[in-house]
Parts: sequence; structure tokens; C-alpha cells
Amino acid sequence: MKLNIKKLNKTYGNGVKALNNLSLEIETGMFGLLGPNGAGKSSLMRTLATLQEADSGTAHLGEIDILKNPNELRKVLGYLPQEFGVYPKITAKQLLDHLAVLKGISSRKERKELVNYLLQKVNLYEKRNKAVKGFSGGMKQRVGIAQALIGNPKLIIVDEPTAGLDPGERNRFHNLLADVAENVIVILSTHIVEDVRELCQNMAIMNHGQLVCQGKPQDVTEALKHQVWQKMIQRNELESYTNNYKVISTKMVGGKPLIHVLSDKNPGEGFQKVRPTLEDVFFSKINQVQQPN
Ligand code: ADP
Repeated sequence: MKLNIKKLNKTYGNGVKALNNLSLEIETGMFGLLGPNGAGKSSLMRTLATLQEADSGTAHLGEIDILKNPNELRKVLGYLPQEFGVYPKITAKQLLDHLAVLKGISSRKERKELVNYLLQKVNLYEKRNKAVKGFSGGMKQRVGIAQALIGNPKLIIVDEPTAGLDPGERNRFHNLLADVAENVIVILSTHIVEDVRELCQNMAIMNHGQLVCQGKPQDVTEALKHQVWQKMIQRNELESYTNNYKVISTKMVGGKPLIHVLSDKNPGEGFQKVRPTLEDVFFSKINQVQQPN
């Protein structure tokens, strides 16, 4: 099963072009969609989840024409939005049961089995009779995954999932997603580079409504080999370095800026060649740095 997106365009009423002739093919497994805030990730996710319409273009999941037959797509879609609101007193079990009703599972017995299965899968069975409202961020995300799995989805869309999770929760969430992604397409939309590096077989980077990079995390990182150099500089030198070099990122280390520069030969004294990371790829693509000649 493939998700095939062709020449999608979306301009909002205020004139912002959120999707600019975007084409993309996604196969089974975990796919990471990276981009800075405002890149257009949510616009793409909402369009694929049939929550909003595109101005032009097409999107197909296998045989399903997503934009023409949103109802067909909804039957095989699991969607985990950035955050979902819950009624104050509803328990994990009640919530999943209620959502299973909405997904059209009318048999009470079938629902009970499904809800128990899902609660076990996301490791919340022991907490099934507790109010979701009182859950930690990580537990809420696991309820989110459980609800996204109702109805055997073929496409699961997860929008900015790990914001606000502590490292342990994030880890558990990652394992759960990787487990789920074996037989379906999971799209993970995020601005957290680490999440994509750790989890995704394939990825793309989006900026200004367009794709600026696409491939396997290892391959796109490998492509920058021998081109990333770092140097610790003084704070008052930053502007001059930014003007004279292709600076892709600046990090403060012990109060001093550590810059990463893109160059195919040694840029000068004090620079040290470093192994590129996916973060270097991300910043070099979104900062629109020209490849050195
Ligand atoms: P991301 O998810 O990558 O942060 P979005 O898709 O949310 O990006 O936003 C892309 C651009 O479209 C941004 O400039 C944002 O301000 C704008 N935008 C998003 N939703 C709307 C809307 N409903 N109306 C007008 N502009 C919007």
C-alpha cells in the first residue's frame, strides 16, 4: 500500500500559501515529516486526514482517492492530533468504548474485547478505570495511540506527538509507534529531529509549503559527509562569521557559540571537520544554504 500525493496546493484566505505544488510518495513503515514551525506540516496532515480541503492536486491511499472520497479514507485512518480534549470524568475504558462506537463498532461484546486489547497494547490496562484527565502527558499520548488504532487503520497520522513528554515517556511512545508501524503507513509530523532519526525509515523535510529534502535519514546525512566543520568562536564574532561563511547552526556551549559551517574544503584556522548529523541536514536545508561549489 502506498500513499501518493501529487501537486497539492493550499492557499489560506489571508494569502498564506501553506502547500506549494507538493508531491510525495510514502510506503509502509514510519515516515518522518520534519519542518520548522509554519512549514506547512499540519496543513498537509489535516488535508490527508480529510479535515480540510486542498485547492488543487491529488492524494491516493492505494485505490482510495482521498480528496474525492473522504469517507472511504476515514474508515482506514487513525489520527492522533497534537492534543485531544476529554470530558472531565471519563475513564480510559469509557473513552475508547465511546470512540469505538463512533467508528461504527456496534457490537458491545466486540467493543469490549477491542478496548481491553488496546488498553493492554498501550500498557494502560491497570489504569483503565481512572479518569484520563488526571493522566500524565505520556499516558494521554498512549490513549491517543490506542484510539488511533481502533478499526485497523492502514494510515496513521501523528502530529507533533512528543512535545511535553519526559524522556522515559517519549521512549515508551517511540517503541509503541515502531511496533504499530510494521504493517501500516505511519506519518510522524514533527520539528524534533531526534524523533525522526531514531524512528523513521524514510523522511522528508518541508519548508515554505515545499519539500526541500527527501530520503532515508542515514542517506541524507551521509550526503553531507566531509562538508560540515565546527568552530568555537567568541560571541562578538558571530555576525562576521555569519556574513563570511555558510553557517548552518549555532549552539551555545559553556556560554560560547559553537558554529557549524558547510564547506567542501577546510574553511580556515580553528575549524574541525565533524561527522554530519541529521540536525546539520535539517538546518542546512531550512536555512536555504547554497551547496558550496
Ligand atoms: P506547521 O504545521 O509546519 O507549523 P502549518 O501548516 O500549521 O505549519 O502552517 C503553515 C502556514 O499556514 C503558516 O504560515 C500558518 O500561519 C498558516 N496557516 C495555518 N493554518 C491557517 C489558517 N487556518 N488560516 C490562515 N493561515 C493559516
